[in-house]
Amino acid sequence: MSARRSVTILGATGSVGRSTLDLIGRDPERFEMVALTAGRDVEGLVELARRFRPRLAVIGDEGAHSRLSDGLAGTGIETAAGAEAIVEAAGSGADWTMAAIVGTAGLKPALRALEGGGTLAFANKEALVSAGELMMRVATATGATLLPVDSEHNAIFQCFDRERPGSVRRIILTASGGPFRERSRDEMRRVTPAEAVAHPNWSMGAKISVDCATLMNKGLELIEAYHLFPLGIDAIDIVVHPQSVIHSLVEYVDGSVLAQLGAPDMRIPIAYTLAWPDRMETPCERLDLVKIGSLDFEAPDEIRFPALGLARAALAQGGAKPAILNAANEIGVASFLESRIGFLDIAAVVGEVLAACDPPAPTSIDEVLEIDRQARRVAAEIAGKFSF
Ligand code: NAD
Ligand code: MG
Repeated sequence: MSARRSVTILGATGSVGRSTLDLIGRDPERFEMVALTAGRDVEGLVELARRFRPRLAVIGDEGAHSRLSDGLAGTGIETAAGAEAIVEAAGSGADWTMAAIVGTAGLKPALRALEGGGTLAFANKEALVSAGELMMRVATATGATLLPVDSEHNAIFQCFDRERPGSVRRIILTASGGPFRERSRDEMRRVTPAEAVAHPNWSMGAKISVDCATLMNKGLELIEAYHLFPLGIDAIDIVVHPQSVIHSLVEYVDGSVLAQLGAPDMRIPIAYTLAWPDRMETPCERLDLVKIGSLDFEAPDEIRFPALGLARAALAQGGAKPAILNAANEIGVASFLESRIGFLDIAAVVGEVLAACDPPAPTSIDEVLEIDRQARRVAAEIAGKFSF
């Protein structure tokens, strides 16, 4: 990498945000920090802002503004609070912005960054699931560069011949299968939030960890892939690969299959987006194929893991359905993490909400957000009926 790059990180205190800052901290001269944002973790944001010295630090929780400004007193770092302030920070004109807020809370900030026309490293899959068409349209209109951070989509991005999309026959997303890959439905009925967030290969935030355990993560990623790459639904396959060494594959018309491999460490795909189109060093473990010995593959089991089928159906139906799927899942996961519903109830809630809600297709972001709000309301009611 040559010129200094100005950087904003949305969701700086989370798992992806901290991995991004870990890489930046190893080569600080190359980056100029514009803004760091967080939802509620003021202490985390103060600590990161003191270390990385952005021009601006923003906390989503308005009630926490004074704690943020007290924590940064004397540093010269500007502070702000509230959802709108995060959107403004996203539009602060950085060369490179990381979208690592979890959930549809990240939608408006991600859109504002795309409107700025810079480079958006994109981890916040829920925003793309809810509003994929609209987001891709904005990216095309402004000429913004959208670089996928999700390890599977980053792998496909690295292997996909974007100049000859017609030469690609299909893409294959790999899934670890999560911590309950070998459990029966009966065993899954009783799993606790602590068991569900303990992923065998990756260290991640709580919400995505639960999504990996239900396989909804792969369902969301199927929809994400559909928007990011110019292929139909039938050209996106999913294969379970428990070692998480092959991060995804692209098959060409001649039968060649290209894959990207690496240690399961998010700093590798993040580094790819941070240095793109160049490459940068990372401290990540190197792949030792001899030590790994063998790689396994199996078909996903959509009976034990119905979330995957729900996502596929929502994508096929299109319109408002993917936004409803995502909103219902966010409520289902939050209810499970608060021990108010069981693990299997998450997909059951999503299925019921999809059946109960059928609004027209959204034509604007405000309509997407209204569909999201309504689906959350219905999901909360339905989740309330599941006794646990
Ligand atoms: P996380 O929970 O660790 O961090 C989320 C970040 O978003 C935090 O900084 C939090 O303060 C902020 N945030 C939460 N709610 C907010 C709100 N309402 N308004 C503003 N900010 C808010 O999550 P994560 O694991 O880092 O995941 C972030 C995103 O990246 C998710 O969409 C996830 O699906 C995706 N992703 C994560 C990984 C991973 O390895 N963690 C891999 C692929 C994709
Ligand atoms: Mg992924």
